[in-house]
Amino acid sequence: MTEPDRPRVVILGGGFGGLGTALKLSKADADVVLIDRHDYHTFQPLLYQLATGLLEPSAVGHSLRDLVHHDQKNVAVHKTPVTAIDLEARQVTLAEMAPLTYDFLVLGLGAEVTFFGTEGAAEHAFPMYTLTDAIRLKEHVLGRWEAADKDPSLIEDGALNVVVVGGGPTGVESAGAIAELYRGDFARDYPDVPQEKARIVLVEAGPDIFGMFKPNLRTYAREALEKRTVEVVTDTRVASVAPTRVALKSGTEIAAHTLVWGAGLQGNQLVQSLGLELERGNRIAVGPDLTVAGHPEVYAVGDLAAITDAKTEQVLPQLGSVALQSGEHVGETIARRLDGEEPKPFKYKDKGTMATIGRGAAVVEMLGGRTMKGRKAQAAWGVVHLALLPTNEDRAKAIVDWAGSGLTHQRTGRITYESEVNANQ
Ligand SMILES: Cc1cc2nc3c(=O)[nH]c(=O)nc-3n(C[C@H](O)[C@H](O)[C@H](O)COP(=O)(O)OP(=O)(O)OC[C@H]3O[C@@H](n4cnc5c(N)ncnc54)[C@H](O)[C@@H]3O)c2cc1C
Repeated sequence: MTEPDRPRVVILGGGFGGLGTALKLSKADADVVLIDRHDYHTFQPLLYQLATGLLEPSAVGHSLRDLVHHDQKNVAVHKTPVTAIDLEARQVTLAEMAPLTYDFLVLGLGAEVTFFGTEGAAEHAFPMYTLTDAIRLKEHVLGRWEAADKDPSLIEDGALNVVVVGGGPTGVESAGAIAELYRGDFARDYPDVPQEKARIVLVEAGPDIFGMFKPNLRTYAREALEKRTVEVVTDTRVASVAPTRVALKSGTEIAAHTLVWGAGLQGNQLVQSLGLELERGNRIAVGPDLTVAGHPEVYAVGDLAAITDAKTEQVLPQLGSVALQSGEHVGETIARRLDGEEPKPFKYKDKGTMATIGRGAAVVEMLGGRTMKGRKAQAAWGVVHLALLPTNEDRAKAIVDWAGSGLTHQRTGRITYESEVNANQ
């Protein structure tokens, strides 16, 4: 596929940002190489549905080769971790293949979880950031219910209790989905287990959950969670995590065998070795055209970039739509530069900030301050997130999956097999 003397564009990361770039380069006279440690693209907004058995892994992870090879002959996909990037030598080092040099480099390696040094969190918490994180959490929770079903003494020890850390969208979505799984499917699946003894506690360090939304949406979200039996605890942090206990800074100790971490993200660790100026949260500061300082051939997109919105002069949040739009812009820009045209600055089209809490419960805040909640907001969430899916086939499949689970409320994915596969290896 590689043609001699054509410029090479190396894209690191097949998330919304990297994939957006690759797809916009389909007609460019360049060899495009897309590198990711996985052979799939992860649709992170639906991870909590995978973790609670509402969706299968194939609805959340999409083959990168399928996504770019459909009609794009100039792209090669390689599954290997990136281990180093040398901006001066214009070379990327890969764990499982020879190093690659580039004419253009796109950094789209995303963000990763940070536990802020919380004692025991790295060992015992369940983060919600990758496909394997979601499957691991599902297997663990199902395993605890199976164990408690056979040995009820485990219930008093907190086997069924879940503490969710973080009152942002990830924490709230996870807590809401776990509550629906518990009070719906598990109530039927395990009739002998006393439901009222299985607690779901959401812990937020700030004074309120959903701090990024207007007060009326915060109140709505809190009430929607409490209606689903989630206990919301604010103004305190998690001090330490052990396999069966969670200690809060307020002094309270909660018996819980599961702690879901939805509290903190930072830009991919690799950016620290680049010698670039980094903003808060380990993010690379980029210019209006999304290049990094001193390297007009290097772009940063998505979660690892600190992109200042031209309209509001605020750094854009770490969202799928920001990642996709920035990635697409960079793909178009590189194509323009290859054609000898001038690049244009990036302009973000804000479709609103939104999050779901549970079935029929969501919140939306538009740029001008208009708000929506309930089913209307959930429909808006669906429309915006369908647009993030890479192909029409994916969109059609998602509509069928979402409509199916919405109508039947069935969580057909609530079976365990990963741990059995691992045990047999
Ligand atoms: C649980 C959860 C829920 C979310 N919900 C929403 C939502 O409802 N709406 C919304 O807009 N946004 C949501 N987001 C945020 C959104 O998913 C991110 O902003 C978006 O995925 C960022 O895209 P990206 O391309 O920058 O990075 P990512 O999507 O993280 O992609 C980075 C890619 O780089 C690869 N990679 C990383 N390190 C290496 C390495 N060393 N070598 C090789 N490959 C590597 C990874 O495998 C990954 O494929 C959510 C995020 C999470 C975690």
